Amino acid sequence: IIKVEHLKKNYGKHEVLKDISATVNKGQVICIIGPSGAGKSTFLRCLNVLERPTAGKIIFNGTDLAKLKDGKQLDNLRQKMGMVFQDFNLFPNMNVLKNIMLAPMKVKGSSESEANQEALQLLKQVGLEEQAQQYPNSLSGGQQQRVAIARALAMKPEMMLFDEPTSALDPEMVGEVLKTMQDLAESGMTMVVVTHEMAFAKEVADEVWFMADGYLQEKGKPKEVFDHPKSQRAKDFLAKIL
Ligand code: ATP
Ligand code: MG
Repeated sequence: IIKVEHLKKNYGKHEVLKDISATVNKGQVICIIGPSGAGKSTFLRCLNVLERPTAGKIIFNGTDLAKLKDGKQLDNLRQKMGMVFQDFNLFPNMNVLKNIMLAPMKVKGSSESEANQEALQLLKQVGLEEQAQQYPNSLSGGQQQRVAIARALAMKPEMMLFDEPTSALDPEMVGEVLKTMQDLAESGMTMVVVTHEMAFAKEVADEVWFMADGYLQEKGKPKEVFDHPKSQRAKDFLAKIL
């Protein structure tokens, strides 16, 4: 579904992504792990062209995203990739249901009743149908993040990108969000997940990518990467977190 070839991203003289090549196949779940500052968020932001690559290709369904111009083409592309961030970014002045209905109505031209029905269905999927009328501030962090996931799904994306979706949560709420993500993975969604939740990566990921210093230093099945890391960099990182 997506193929990255020799991706580079600089901020001024700072080379953040140095030479990244990787493939995500349809239905795969990729977990990206690695130290702070490795370039994980930058990589995700390049995938949906929130950042322009400095060099290299990102081929999504046959189109090189690096060549897309701002405007309609890019908007269409972004609709196909749902993104969930660390801080949930819900609209505080709208209830949960409206948060989910907004983009389908505004961007896709869905009718209100259609958007409403789909939003309710999605809330059910993430276990929050009871909270439809509540405002984001009245929800726990875990609930807000599940709303954020439902909101991203409302655009019917072909793949989902997650950037440390549980890092801002109190520990007791991490599980419910991971469960929602695991359900999504089992439903066949293609997912790229930057995470520090190694148990989740072990259990759910088809592949784990270890990123450090702007390179994907290791790629493999979770077992290979966790139990038999090849590089010293990965060994040191895993020793610290496992
Ligand atoms: P973390 O685990 O802390 O989230 P990360 O792996 O996601 O780290 P990035 O956020 O991608 O790392 O950042 C990689 C490097 O790029 C950092 O040194 C950061 O300071 C730099 N960087 C990121 N965004 C920008 C920007 N918009 N302008 C300049 N430098 C940036
Ligand atoms: Mg980051």
